[in-house]
Amino acid sequence: MIKARSVLWFRRDLRIHDNAALDWACENSAAVIPVYIHSPEEERPWAPGAASRWWLHHSLALLQNKLADKGLTLHFYSGNSEELIPKIIAESKAGSLVYNRLYEPHMQDRDSRIEKKIEDEIEVVSFDSGLFFPPGTVLNNQQLPYRVYTPFYRKIRPLLSVSQSQQYSQPSSGCSKVPESISLSSGLPLKSLALLDEHSWHEKLASHWLPGEDRACELLDEFTDSAVEHYEIERDIPAVDSTSRLSPYLHFGEITPQQIYFAFWPLLEGERGAGASRSAEVFLKQLIWREFAHNVLWHFPETSTKPMNPRYKKKFWRSNKSAFIAWSKGETGIPIIDAGMKQLWETGWMHNRVRMIVSSFLTKNLGINWLDGASWFWDTLVDADLANNSMGWQWVAGCGVDAAPYYRVFNPITQTRRFDSKFSYIDTWVPGHAVSDYPHPIVDLASSRDEAIQRYKHYISS
Ligand SMILES: Cc1cc2nc3c(=O)[nH]c(=O)nc-3n(C[C@H](O)[C@H](O)[C@H](O)COP(=O)(O)OP(=O)(O)OC[C@H]3O[C@@H](n4cnc5c(N)ncnc54)[C@H](O)[C@@H]3O)c2cc1C
Repeated sequence: MIKARSVLWFRRDLRIHDNAALDWACENSAAVIPVYIHSPEEERPWAPGAASRWWLHHSLALLQNKLADKGLTLHFYSGNSEELIPKIIAESKAGSLVYNRLYEPHMQDRDSRIEKKIEDEIEVVSFDSGLFFPPGTVLNNQQLPYRVYTPFYRKIRPLLSVSQSQQYSQPSSGCSKVPESISLSSGLPLKSLALLDEHSWHEKLASHWLPGEDRACELLDEFTDSAVEHYEIERDIPAVDSTSRLSPYLHFGEITPQQIYFAFWPLLEGERGAGASRSAEVFLKQLIWREFAHNVLWHFPETSTKPMNPRYKKKFWRSNKSAFIAWSKGETGIPIIDAGMKQLWETGWMHNRVRMIVSSFLTKNLGINWLDGASWFWDTLVDADLANNSMGWQWVAGCGVDAAPYYRVFNPITQTRRFDSKFSYIDTWVPGHAVSDYPHPIVDLASSRDEAIQRYKHYISS
């Protein structure tokens, strides 16, 4: 059989290893034409923020080099994918389009439109990717989506057992058989995608992160070799570097949950003792939160812009511009909040415990709409992820799935005592917090908490 040429469309699967679309293209094509299309208009209102674009730029540069080592040229485009894909197929004379699926509802709609447009002319091959199971496939006994995490976890956890499912073998090492490479004249240089802001604020991110799948694999190795042992106990302590920091790598598909599970398997089996096994299990629970978030967004696509619970519509929230600015700049006068917001601004990341404290303060003590906070995170986080961010914010604000009860208002002072008792985290990000002229808190914590609870009570009973 004569093999056709394949256009291999990279999206958020910026890796060589464990990449089903790449493997298929290499195995089944006479020539492979890898492409990446920057199409922020198609992602609105959640077009990639500034920190994400910084990551994307570097990740694409590294992927380009990796593909070049295999003799393949990554082509860059900017614009409307629905128009560009047919043009690229025509120019390259390809007989197939291959890609790994995305699950955000508007991305799936776009992909189906493209598929419909071209499926009579060429073969379209797509693969599940980026999650343990495609969203929508893990349902409760009534065949309905889960709205609460724990039963979702109980259902999915046994399905992950290697001995039962046999589906996680050693992930593929990436395109062993290299077909012919083709270069298209229409491709642009990476720089012309203009992913990097002209303002050089993003330069500081490079001192905290190295994007790309090689670094993802190194981090996974470091984490499984040592840090994981303390994860169960230390994962809530923001001053200690005990979480994996794999979130941006997972978001951009530089590493897959399957690769992580495979690396964790010996730990889960107890090879390094009961402590490490428990810690690995706790870590797996976090990955399953990610899986849950993606399922929630898939079943309830409106939750990226609307509260899951319709009671909390716009008029529930208050407008307070100056308080929002103080929060975003880390100038609230509450050291743990200011430390978190400064960590975010400096590094593009914030510890999960502190994400919960700062989001509770914004939505409950200040009464500001969770969407304003989610938008700020979206622009500043290197791991900004629509499913995780929407669920995280709605969970804390009390208006989402499996939401924290309305009366749970994280008290920043108590949280500091519990999770940063020696002020090590705060000292790092706001070294001046102990001085007498440190600004006073912008709100009184006790009275703003009481007001918040009254407001929530009123809305729930009305
Ligand atoms: C208000 C708020 C907003 C958030 N926004 C995002 C976001 O935009 N992108 C994002 O990836 N995470 C988000 N999270 C979840 C969590 O804070 C981060 O995933 C975590 O801090 C990333 O650090 P890590 O990789 O070291 O985590 P680890 O503790 O090492 O966890 C491993 C992986 O599990 C997943 N995970 C961990 N906790 C959660 C969680 N609560 N929900 C969903 N997945 C989880 C992540 O993919 C993470 O990389 C948010 C949480 C809150 C409270």
